[in-house]
Amino acid sequence: MYTPGTILSENSKCGHSLDLPIKGHCTPTKNCAHDCYARCGRQSFPASKKKHDFVSQYLKGNDISRLISECKPLPAVRLNGSGDLLPEHIPQIISLAKACPNTQFWGMTRKINIATQVNNQLPNLKLLVSVDASSPKSVWNYPGKLCWGPKRPNDQVPQDPRIHVIFPRHSSGRVVKGVTKDPNKDCLAVWHDIKGCHQCGKCWSW
Ligand code: SF4
Repeated sequence: MYTPGTILSENSKCGHSLDLPIKGHCTPTKNCAHDCYARCGRQSFPASKKKHDFVSQYLKGNDISRLISECKPLPAVRLNGSGDLLPEHIPQIISLAKACPNTQFWGMTRKINIATQVNNQLPNLKLLVSVDASSPKSVWNYPGKLCWGPKRPNDQVPQDPRIHVIFPRHSSGRVVKGVTKDPNKDCLAVWHDIKGCHQCGKCWSW
């Protein structure tokens, strides 16, 4: 049976992440489906997809001791660095955060039901709900913290205090032409103003 060398993945921006499949997991908006960074590049390679499938099955299982060992020494782990969580993953995500109280688990989801189940349970477990210009109106009923992304050149991001972080649309490591910078809310790692999440923490500082 296939088992990856490590359950976590690594990248220069987030550090360590738990990556999941897009297929069968994401409920993308029109803009997200078009702009998604995980549809191309390294995340789309067959080996990556195989690992994403493994992680999804692993989180549905009973024994996450190996994942706990990987996460315990780390200051922060990004949840669903690709794809999105399923309801079946939630019990083990909560168990993981409980077992690793010194590790911050953070990320984004398009699913209000997932954010509602995960947030306000543990101080080291936080998910932002992603919205964009093509999101359904119903998403604005979510009372918790939001992130806007992808921000496209013509987007008018609402002045809504729930929007905590903005992710400019980027491609091949660069913000696409015409996207303006909000110095207070934009992810500065996307602009290459900072090296990565370890210098920021905005996504879980709320
Ligand atoms: S806003 Fe900060 S914490 Fe969030 S993804 Fe960007 S660098 Fe990481």
